[in-house]
Amino acid sequence: MIVMKFGGTSVGSKERFEQVFRLISQAKDESGPPLVVVSAMSGVTNALIEAADLAVRRNLDGALAQIEMVRQKHIDAVQGLLSKDKAQALLSDLSLHLSELDSVLRGINYLGELSKRSIDAVSAMGELLSSSVLAEYARERGLKTKWVDARKVVQTDDTFGKANPQWQEIEARAKSEILPAIKDGSIVITQGFIGSTAEGITTTLGRGGSDYSASILGVACDAQRIEIWTDVDGMMTADPRIVPAAQLITDVSFQEASELAYFGAKVLHPLTIKPAVEKNITVKVLNTMRPDSRGTSIQAVVKEPAAYAKNDLAKSICAIASKKGISALFISSPRMLMAHGFLAKVFSVFDKHRTPIDLIATSEVSISLTVDNIENLDLIRQDLAELGEIEVMSDTAIVTVVGRQFRERSGIAGEVFTALKDINILVISGGASDINISFLVHAVDADRAVKQLHAHFFGS
Ligand code: ADP
Ligand code: ASP
Ligand code: MG
Repeated sequence: MIVMKFGGTSVGSKERFEQVFRLISQAKDESGPPLVVVSAMSGVTNALIEAADLAVRRNLDGALAQIEMVRQKHIDAVQGLLSKDKAQALLSDLSLHLSELDSVLRGINYLGELSKRSIDAVSAMGELLSSSVLAEYARERGLKTKWVDARKVVQTDDTFGKANPQWQEIEARAKSEILPAIKDGSIVITQGFIGSTAEGITTTLGRGGSDYSASILGVACDAQRIEIWTDVDGMMTADPRIVPAAQLITDVSFQEASELAYFGAKVLHPLTIKPAVEKNITVKVLNTMRPDSRGTSIQAVVKEPAAYAKNDLAKSICAIASKKGISALFISSPRMLMAHGFLAKVFSVFDKHRTPIDLIATSEVSISLTVDNIENLDLIRQDLAELGEIEVMSDTAIVTVVGRQFRERSGIAGEVFTALKDINILVISGGASDINISFLVHAVDADRAVKQLHAHFFGS
């Protein structure tokens, strides 16, 4: 069985739903009914989160206007896709979801309080709506389908906004809710991004989390392949929005793809790959609008092409990624000179505040490090102040060069820094990994750094 995940732009309009329908029918003919995982229509999750934000800031009219926009987007799609009667029936079903949303927003507005739990309840709505549209349309076009509420399958813990899957429970539920229907010849259509706690409270897996849902469900169902259908040809040598000349990477290892996803290649949610690696399931990234293009295959082992010859520097580089919205902390403590335990004390502060560190560079009495989760930054800063002097810099970005066997090759750092000679580099982290070199720059320089590196290694 194959999992096919369609992102926001892939279900962004009536025409896109039609294209998704063609792809899933074709997949059914070729390899049996797939499990289809859909995101919210493009722009909808942002609108829902904005609505919750406006509601808590006592702008109920603004919040309801966002919901109206969401409603209209779905009405346009549904009226273009379904016959009058069917459209009417579906729109009244969708209205039920939307009036629930209305009540939640009024509650948020009345209380002036917005918890992560409420944000999840609001933002989950986008996937419930889009998946209902696709299921109804596929049914009207004669496909045998079953719509499954992902919250009945994807059980998670209660880390709202970034919930963690409860694997055993999910596997058991996939066996009862999904696999029998597939065996019976139905295409199963469900939502990405959302789940629920054991008590039935709605959770989400974090922004961009539909890719992760596809992988969780693919693993739980023992899928043959997980296909991530999106709006670009596959994983590319850089974000094509930043570097129009970016090239398609047709084959990439799990490790390289994870590194790229983690360091900002938004095309794949960073948690997507790990579960698939463990079960050795191939992940493919494909373009919904150009289904015949080859796409990217992500596999455990990718044979090293001859071109990856040692010292052929350009060929050892796989891609360039960047991640904005990073904060850097510079900690220095001259009194720790010759003393032990400085690093341990610094790390324990981050551990206490459950904040992961991304990049790090150290000398004996100073540490530079970066975080992208700034939720507890004030508390971290207070605790670190007891250890030494702290400077915090926001609006920075990590730029990462991903490749192979960096430790065995000489000259890579030289090439990287030659390409960036006019860019102020704030922190460098090389050598920590055999497959990446990362460094911190001011956010305003990030796109230029990516462009210059890409031009240097891949040509422009
Ligand atoms: P979806 O809605 O299908 O999940 P996303 O917007 O989350 O799509 O991800 C696709 C986008 O990822 C592309 O439009 C592209 O701009 C961006 N992207 C960033 N880095 C890369 C990369 N290395 N390769 C391909 N796309 C990338
Ligand atoms: N709709 C969610 C988001 O916009 C999840 C996803 O698209 O992957 O973040
Ligand atoms: Mg995405």
